[in-house]
Amino acid sequence: MKSQKTIRTVSVFGSTGSVGQSTIELLKYHSDLYQVEVLTAYKNASLLADQAIALGAKYAVIGDETKLPELKEALKNYPVEAMGGRQALLDMAEHSVDWVMMAIVGMAGLEPIFKALPNGKTVAIANKEPLVAAGHLLMSRAEDYGTTILPVDSEHNAIFQVFEQDNRNAIEKIILTASGGPFRTWSLEEVSKATPEQAVKHPNWSMGAKISVDSASMMNKGLEIIEAHHLFKMEPDKIDVVIHPQSIVHSMVQYHDGSVLAQMGTPDMKTPIVNALGYPDRIKSSAPSLDIKTLSSLTFEQPDLDKFPALRLSYQALREGGVSPLVLNATNEVAVAAFLNRGIPFLGIVEIVERALNKERKEPVSTLEEILFLDQTVRDETHLLIHETIQNSLKQVG
Ligand code: NAD
Ligand code: MG
Repeated sequence: MKSQKTIRTVSVFGSTGSVGQSTIELLKYHSDLYQVEVLTAYKNASLLADQAIALGAKYAVIGDETKLPELKEALKNYPVEAMGGRQALLDMAEHSVDWVMMAIVGMAGLEPIFKALPNGKTVAIANKEPLVAAGHLLMSRAEDYGTTILPVDSEHNAIFQVFEQDNRNAIEKIILTASGGPFRTWSLEEVSKATPEQAVKHPNWSMGAKISVDSASMMNKGLEIIEAHHLFKMEPDKIDVVIHPQSIVHSMVQYHDGSVLAQMGTPDMKTPIVNALGYPDRIKSSAPSLDIKTLSSLTFEQPDLDKFPALRLSYQALREGGVSPLVLNATNEVAVAAFLNRGIPFLGIVEIVERALNKERKEPVSTLEEILFLDQTVRDETHLLIHETIQNSLKQVG
């Protein structure tokens, strides 16, 4: 007799992004296993409508309300309810499902995750910035509601797969691998002149613009150190980073009996996404699997902290605790956007983050409201700082 498959209900926040589109591809591949409830995007109404139609979603939410008429028009002949605006997005985060993917970029994803935690039985999180800035709040909320958080970031998903919870006292350290990004072999002089086009051209992974710039500065790895601290409850001195340019070993856990357990795969986000989608089962991926015989070498090296100070700053922020990780993240988000808009040079991103981290702050940050308020304050200050820097450099040129 054929076994009866249970259909699980799922939602995808940020379905039009890089992680979002890979998730949609996997949901199409496994369409017999899932009922799609909610899909959300910020601006791309036509792709959102196509996805909602293809997967038979019940609701499609566009964050930018001015795009709602376009979304409604595209969906007028289909049984998909179209909604628009931030409030609609937040309301739909409370829609109860078995599994939800959080793949919005940046702190814009904090409130949706916060609201989804009591209502999604399993919350898969790709969106690392809220974990960095508000890790305590989100992890304790998940515990309060008995919600399972599944890490989707490839390193954290790798660690999740080889982290023996019952033997956590036997863990010496976790080792995050980093590709080193597009500037790994560049001189500091060359890096100082890097353009947005060069920074977003990652050698191994295809990703959204913000995380690609973070990979180039290695701030991405810095954010991931803080993310790992919250997800696995590991202290900073038990989190290590190693450069692994081939991006085949996605991370490792080292045990005190001498064993180092690693997870490997092609550099394709579909592997960690499908791992989270099927969890606790292992369902098939639509991506080609790794052919180990084609690998000629796997290499590992120490990161250069002089060339990539973002790593040093991230350890500093994690050790300081309090508001520091939030400040690091908020300034970085604003500075990366300014770099992508050609307002500041590439090395200016980390300079701005360092200045912000060195400012003393006394604001409390435990509730969602306090976190959102401080995040906005830091962003406003960073915008001002960038504006002044640009004015000064214009004066000097003039
Ligand atoms: P992306 O820029 O490609 O997509 C972001 C998605 O978020 C889009 O659907 C966009 O419409 C939506 N969005 C953007 N701003 C929004 C807002 N203000 N309100 C509502 N929705 C908004 O980003 P990505 O590369 O897919 O990354 C998503 C998250 O996953 C990031 O936090 C990133 O760090 C993390 N991540 C990505 C990868 C990757 O391979 N791309 C790997 C690991 C982790
Ligand atoms: Mg990663």
